[in-house]
Amino acid sequence: APRPHWLFGDQLGPHFIDPRHGGPDARAPLIMIEARSVLRRRRFHRAKAHLVLSAMRHRAAELGDRVTYVRAETYAEGLERALGHPSSRSAQEGRSGSRLTVCHPTSRRALDFARTREGVEVLPAKGFMVSHDDFAGWAGRGGGQGLRLEGFYRWVRGRHDLLMDGDEPVGGRWNLDHDNREPPPRGQDTLDVRRPWQPREDAIDEEVRHDLDRWERDGDVSFVGRDGPRRFPATRREALSALRHFITHRLPDFGSQEDAMLAADPVMSHSLLSAPLNLGLLDPAECVERAERAHRAGDAPLNSVEGFVRQIAGWREYVWHLYWHFGEDYRHRNALRHTTPLPDWFLDLDADAVTANCLSTVLAQVRDTGWTHHIPRLMVLGSRALQDGWDPAAVTDWFHRCFVDGYDWVMLPNVVGMSQYADGGLMTTKPYTSGGAYIHRMSDLCGPCAYRPTDRTGDRACPYTAGYWAFLHRHRDRLAANHRMARAVKGLDRLADLPELLDTTARRGGTPP
Ligand code: FAD
Repeated sequence: APRPHWLFGDQLGPHFIDPRHGGPDARAPLIMIEARSVLRRRRFHRAKAHLVLSAMRHRAAELGDRVTYVRAETYAEGLERALGHPSSRSAQEGRSGSRLTVCHPTSRRALDFARTREGVEVLPAKGFMVSHDDFAGWAGRGGGQGLRLEGFYRWVRGRHDLLMDGDEPVGGRWNLDHDNREPPPRGQDTLDVRRPWQPREDAIDEEVRHDLDRWERDGDVSFVGRDGPRRFPATRREALSALRHFITHRLPDFGSQEDAMLAADPVMSHSLLSAPLNLGLLDPAECVERAERAHRAGDAPLNSVEGFVRQIAGWREYVWHLYWHFGEDYRHRNALRHTTPLPDWFLDLDADAVTANCLSTVLAQVRDTGWTHHIPRLMVLGSRALQDGWDPAAVTDWFHRCFVDGYDWVMLPNVVGMSQYADGGLMTTKPYTSGGAYIHRMSDLCGPCAYRPTDRTGDRACPYTAGYWAFLHRHRDRLAANHRMARAVKGLDRLADLPELLDTTARRGGTPP
């Protein structure tokens, strides 16, 4: 009889159990474990806890008798119980060697757990386009010079024959980013695109909500954020509907305003597919192949399709591999020696305490949905943390807990590297932060704000503008040596009001901006 196979909560799609692609035997009994200690360890966004539990329970319902679904305190306890279950026990009888298989988990902690338990065989990772070995080959061959995204992305495109005409990129250019940095349309509150796909909740969601209420009431776990109607797919069928809806109705507009922000339209043309991708409900290859097909059929322009393909076949794969490549120490990096603890208003997602309209708006989006697109994450939330010198490990933990798509592997490179520059430039060539002028240009958030993006000092000084200069000043020596920052640092010399600016930011320190 085949060995039982253990499915983690982010391994929910059919490809994780497909024997034709290295998965377990088609008759292998399956084990799923809902471990309460995971929720107890940290204060997660409630919408995230809801989504993950809902998706796991939906999958268990689909798999029926084939799965032993255990609610336990820990994975160890859950495994003990599941392996003692008759369907798993009969499968193990008479076998020597490993008793259980599992696909390569997505966090180091889970991988260590699986590897150090006797009798567990770890199968290759699924849910990504590039294997560990192939990445190591690329990095080792000098493709990894500086391990930059652009080289990696082009290599993936060629290898997977994605948007290629022979050896050349479709349209002659690899990168259409410069077509994709348009500000939002002036005088419009929302983009003219079809609203995103939305699921309908069912009895499983109701049961999850009921359990979460009870655990909270019992003081067993504590959450942050609101658990409004579920917004993200919890099943394969829902995930495919969301993907189809995006490719048909929204992909054509994905590109040009990819970096723009509108207060009343937080999603704009983004796909909202990170959560189903990271739960394993969608396979990245099917997403990019469908996008390419839409382009080849004349249904979506190249700048949008290339932008989307770059996000998934480029960024998502790149981040996954950097997580493993950089090693365990990466999570403790703190090149800028930032140690300020996160303020309570930020930890509690208390958007109402914040005056700066951009930050208040974005924090409210996180509170209400557990999601914002990449620019609010990078240039509003992350930039605030960077400018104010918050402890990067605590910032990483915050993103992980508060975002529906947050997992260890995706958080570490995105926050430690990309957003907080805590790795000193291993991942990016410069810190990502800006003054209020960038936010003003790329959004409608500054108009109604009590601060002015042009003001560096005084009561109406924009916290991003003042914070930007204070950040450059604090790290002047290090940043002056960076050729992409040297000019900005020189700009400090022209600021006659620098002492006053530093005084303003110091006085405000600690209070919500
Ligand atoms: P779209 O804009 O529609 O992009 C399509 C897809 O590309 C996404 O669904 C996602 O799967 C992928 N993608 C794009 N950029 C990245 C990236 N940098 N890393 C990984 N995948 C990427 N993404 C997560 O999935 N989980 C996270 O926890 C996460 N944390 C982030 C934290 C910070 C500070 C920053 C700057 C970015 C983070 N991202 C994270 C990347 C990106 O912001 C989200 O993937 C994206 O906003 C999700 O919305 P979407 O599905 O509509 O994305």
